[in-house]
This record gives sequence, structure tokens and C-alpha cells, in this order.
Amino acid sequence: MNQEKTALKWRRSKIVATLGPATQSPDMIRRLLQAGVDVVRLNMSHGGHDGHRRLFAQVRAEAEAQGRHVAILMDLCGPKIRVGEFVEGAIGLRDGQTVVVTTRRVKGREGLIPSGYGRLHRDVVSGERILLDDGNLELRVLDVVGRDVRCRVVHGGPLSDHKGMNLPDSQLSTPAFTDKDKQDAALAVELGADFLALSFVRDAADVRRLQRYLRRQGSEIPIVSKIERPQAVANIDEILALSDAIMVARGDLGIEMPAEKVPLIQRELINKARHAHRPVIVATQMLESMIDHYRPTRAEVGDVANAAETGTDAVMLSAETAAGHYPLEAVQTMDRVLRETERHQWQEGRFGSLVFGDRRRADYSTREAIAHAAQTLVADLRLQAMVIPTHSGTTARVLAAHRPVAPLVGVCDSRVVCRRLALHWGVVPVYRPQPAIEDWHRLCADIAGETGLTRSGYRALVVAGFHDDPRQNQPVLKLLSL
Ligand code: PEP
Repeated sequence: MNQEKTALKWRRSKIVATLGPATQSPDMIRRLLQAGVDVVRLNMSHGGHDGHRRLFAQVRAEAEAQGRHVAILMDLCGPKIRVGEFVEGAIGLRDGQTVVVTTRRVKGREGLIPSGYGRLHRDVVSGERILLDDGNLELRVLDVVGRDVRCRVVHGGPLSDHKGMNLPDSQLSTPAFTDKDKQDAALAVELGADFLALSFVRDAADVRRLQRYLRRQGSEIPIVSKIERPQAVANIDEILALSDAIMVARGDLGIEMPAEKVPLIQRELINKARHAHRPVIVATQMLESMIDHYRPTRAEVGDVANAAETGTDAVMLSAETAAGHYPLEAVQTMDRVLRETERHQWQEGRFGSLVFGDRRRADYSTREAIAHAAQTLVADLRLQAMVIPTHSGTTARVLAAHRPVAPLVGVCDSRVVCRRLALHWGVVPVYRPQPAIEDWHRLCADIAGETGLTRSGYRALVVAGFHDDPRQNQPVLKLLSL
């Protein structure tokens, strides 16, 4: 194998794929994993617990059969607001018309829209916007009378049963973690999900609520906070401090905020997540046209490449794999686009540089300095791999944020942690029982063979000992020749 092929055998950016009606069969799940899906997403907004249980077991069985560490992310639907039902299934809204959105339990008709959100009349005030059907329709609140919210139609159009409703200007009084989410989170705990995503997070208090719930269940499932509300963007630092990962949920974010703001917010969230050593997923409409077409648009290809180029850990497929006509092709396309982008990055010798902290400052951490040194060594010595014996995954997590040019082989004595590492940029998770991890020389030789990272004169940099508590942080760097 030539040097470039060896170096790029392991794709650095990870692929998250959502399962749904198009991808229920064991055969399709097998093919998706073979095509390189690293994280499978089960969307709790759709389907019942029995269906999720079955899919969960199938993914676990298939990953084991393929000898791969594939994570399962269960995505809680949160307080997604929808309109209710109409007598005739749909109504039409005319620009300038006055309509009533009500929290009374009624069926809708011309001029009357039932809301599935029971606190709507308490949370909105006059002048605020109510967006319907992915933001295609816009209402402006005139006044509130009892449970009725009178609105003027700014942009009209057809509105049918159960379409989404967004309240971008309002302070919602409902928490991000709802009663339905509680039942779904209980299922995630029962099954042993690898990640739990929390929708419509506003601030740290929302994340803390889910954290407390999980702790009471004796669970430590890592939390992925979905950034899809303007408040979450404003409170991103406190959210990152409590979350294990974030998702740039561009579907709702692009409705709740002007769409033109989303690309730069995406870039800022990626940078912030990396500085916090948290993985970040860029989600929604990445290859949207592949729901119906065999080929993506050129703009979509550019979107995936841009997400990788700007340093995301993972990119996500939603309806493309859940309900599309070409789920396998969507994963294969994503894989090809990411690999091509990474080939260019590798040839340039860098995968998205970021300056981590100010080295002149007294609070520049030892861990950051060591991670920076490790990244530089790997590049200067043209090493084939960084080998990271890790128990909790912390050392791999910190090093991954620095985006070194060689793959990070995260060797771990826990299959649970191996699966979590599947989401992190550049990390190749490898399971080894504890005693095997202690003989570093032997470990590197084994890994070189197993991961295909072998070349004559193979050298690896072993990095270990990072800890979140600075007093327990005892970093070790060791260069091993095999
Ligand atoms: C989104 O809004 O972009 C998103 C990922 O959320 P969901 O698909 O759960 O609506």
C-alpha cells in the first residue's frame, strides 16, 4: 500500500445515519454499516418502542458481526410543536387574513388553527411571529383572548394536519425535556444507548434536567444537545460545558433564525465545540435531493465538503436514509465526498488548524500544550498513527479536537467507550482487555496489523494520561519504533 492510501484508509469525519421506513430490514442495516456508517440515529419523533427495540438489537448484532464499534444515538423529540387536525384535513391561508390559533381542543377549519402546544396563549405576545410548515407560512400575533391567539397572515399558503409550528420570538415556558421524552429516555437507558440527543435546548438548565433524570436511573449516557433555537446559540458556552456533544440541527435552526445566519453560526459552533473538546455533528438536508434522486446536487456536495473542511466531527443523514429512495447511495456519496476532502487536507498537511488558547497566558493548560506537542510531532516525524490507551476516552477526545494528521487509534478496555469514540473525528476505536493495554510496544505492533496502518519502519506516538481534573492529569508521550 502506498503512503497516501495507508494514511487515508480510515476516514476522519464520521457519518451519522438515521434509520426509518426505508432502512428497517436487517439486510439494509448490514449494507449501511458496511458502507461506513459510524453512528446510527433512532429518531424518537417517529415509531413506537417495539420498533426501536427491534432496530436497536439489529444494529448491535450487525456491528458485532462486522467487528465494528458502531454507536447508537437515540434522539428525543422534545417540545416539537405541531398544529392539530382540520375537519377537511387542510385549510388555505390568505395573505392579510385574520386567523385564530387556539389551544382549545377543537378541530380546525377556515380561519381556525388548533395548536398542539397547550401553553401557546400564555407564551406569545402581540407582535411575535408564529411560523408554520417549516417556516413556509408566517403569522404575526395581534392579541390574545383567553385561549385564542388572533393573528394576521403575513405569508399564506396551504396548511394541513400536524404540520410543524415554530415560535422564534417567544420565550417558551415548556422545558426541553418533556413527559414523552422521559418515557423515551427510559427506553434508551433500558437498551443502553450510546448517546441521547436533547431537542430544543435553550440553556444549561435544560441539559441539567436530563442529566439529573439519567443520574436517578443510574445511567451515564452522554448527552448530545441539539442547537436549534436562538437562545441555545446565545448560551452555547454554558451548554457546551454540560453536554458531551452538540448537534447543529439546521432544520429548525434555519426556521427559528434567518437562514442566511446559519452557515456562519455552524462554523462558530464547530470551533466552539472543538475548543471545548466536544464532538459536533452537522445535521439536516446535507444530501436532501437524494431522497428522490440517485445523484446529489453540486451544492449539496459542497455543503458536505465544507462541513468537513471547517472541522466538524460528523455529518448526519436524516430523511435521506430514513425515508429516501437511495439510502445506501446517500451514505456512499457522503463517504466519497468526505474522503476526497480529506485527501486534499492530508496533502496540505493539515486538517483544519485552530489555535487552542493563548500560550503566553498562565492559565494555558498543560493538557493543551501536550496535545499541541503531540500533534506537531506526528506531523514533523510523519508518523502513521497516534496510539492512545484510554479508559474513559478523555485522552482521545482532547487529542481529536486538535485534528492531528495521523489517525488516532483509541485503545480501550470498555466496549461502551469504544462505541462512544466512534463519533469523534479521526478516532479508530480498538477494544483490548486491560492487561493487553499495558504493554505498549506489543500493543502498537498488534494495532498496526489490525488497522492496516503498517509500513516498514512503522513508528507510532503513544499518548496517555489526560484527565479532566488538572490534579490527576499526568500526560505521557512515548515514541515507539517497531
Ligand atoms: C433539525 O431540526 O435539524 C433536526 C436535526 O431535528 P429533527 O430532525 O429531530 O427535527
